[in-house]
This record gives sequence, C-alpha cells and structure tokens, in this order.
Amino acid sequence: MRDQIVAGNWKMNLSFEQALQLASNINTWVSENETKAKVIISPSSIYLQAIQEIVDDQFIQIAAQDVSVAEKGAYTGDISAEQLDSIGINTAIVGHSERRQYQQETDESIAKKLEQLFAKNITPILCIGENLEQRETNQHFEVVKSQVLNALTPQKTENLSKIVIAYEPVWAIGTGKTASPEQAQEIHAFIRQTLNNSFGEEIANATSILYGGSVNPSNAKELFSQPDIDGGLVGGASLNIEDFSQIIASF
Ligand code: 13P
Repeated sequence: MRDQIVAGNWKMNLSFEQALQLASNINTWVSENETKAKVIISPSSIYLQAIQEIVDDQFIQIAAQDVSVAEKGAYTGDISAEQLDSIGINTAIVGHSERRQYQQETDESIAKKLEQLFAKNITPILCIGENLEQRETNQHFEVVKSQVLNALTPQKTENLSKIVIAYEPVWAIGTGKTASPEQAQEIHAFIRQTLNNSFGEEIANATSILYGGSVNPSNAKELFSQPDIDGGLVGGASLNIEDFSQIIASF
C-alpha cells in the first residue's frame, strides 16, 4: 500500500509569526481529526527548526524546499543535506518548476541533489511537469519521462524505493487551471509505467505520485480518487487552515 500524502509547499510566503500560527493550527487539526493522509508542510528554511519544535512529528512531517548539490563548503546561501539532517529534517522538495525556471536547475543538478539527500536518508519529493507549450505540442509524455529518467537513472538502486514524485504541470501552478482528473490520471499512470519499465514493478507500485497545480478543496476529492494519484502537493491553498484541512480530509 502506497503512502497517501498531502504536502503543503508554502514557497516564499508568511512572516515568522504567521508561519508558526499556521503550523500550530494544522497540528491541532490533524491531532483532532482522523486522517488517512500523511501530512507534510514545507516552510521557508529559516523557519524549519522553530516549526519543528511546535508540531508533533507523529502528526506532521516537515520538508525543506530545496537542498544544495554540494556536500559542504564554499556555497554561500546553500543548505546541505547534512545540515538538514543535523536539525532532524527527513524530507525535502527537489526540482520544483520555480527553481528550474528561476534558478536554472537542470535534471543533472537535480540528480546530484537526490544523491545528497539519499546519502543522509532524507526522502526527496521530486517535482516534474511540462510547461504549457510542451503540453500544447503534445510533448508532455516525453518531457516527464526524460525528467524522471534523468533524475533517477544515476541513483543507486536501493535508494529508488525511497522517493516521492510530484507531477506538477507548470501551466497549472498558481493559475487556477487544474489538470482534469482524467488528464492527471493519464500522466500519473504513464509515470508509473515509466518507473515500471526502467526500475521494475516493485518500485513502480511502491512510489507515491502526487499531483500539484491549483489543488483546492473543490477539486481535491476527485483528483485523489484516481487510481494512480496518491495525494497532492499544494501551494496557495496550503496557506490557510480552512482550505488545507479540507484538502487533507478529501481522502
Ligand atoms: P498552487 O497550488 O499554488 O498552484 O502551487 C502548486 C505548487 O507549485 C506546489 O508545489
């Protein structure tokens, strides 16, 4: 049985006080409600430790939004997997389309980041997804396949079972345009088939594949009920407790 996951990517939002308040509200909600989903929140790195102190790790896991390609040393501004591990962080988002776009991240740098995370036993949430032009010219299958294979082929086989994949079509992020449940299911099934063809059935069946891109309380249930969609990576709607809790309750 695969993990069902609802992860909130807070991106570069919220003051320290707002972040603590939201984390505390989510913690309270999850502790008082039965939920099938594993709940993850991903605040800015400067808040990681403070938030870790106020949430119960039995209910909520905390993820970093990125990690350095390098192990240590002269990389001003970067945060290493070892540093994340040293404060007890065990999950990290990698290769988000915003980082691919604004920080020139490539499949090659993302593969290195995965290696760093695996070396510290940190679970990566690997983000992939096509942009609008690629979707309109029918290249989306090819794009996600190469993103998956370029990131995962260099990894040691024993680490492949530790990954979570988030399919986030760039055209659906922050736009209010969601992939239809059928469109999302189609590509999630294709991603799972790609894992199956390259790394075997066991890994394909064990890997949670999340959908991201304008997930909200009204579309979450239908998306999450698709056979190959194992949850969501939520941006905007993870920034308030009303929407986020309804999304968690959609399982
Ligand atoms: P939105 O939910 O705001 O579209 O963002 C999705 C996302 O990028 C999550 O990582």
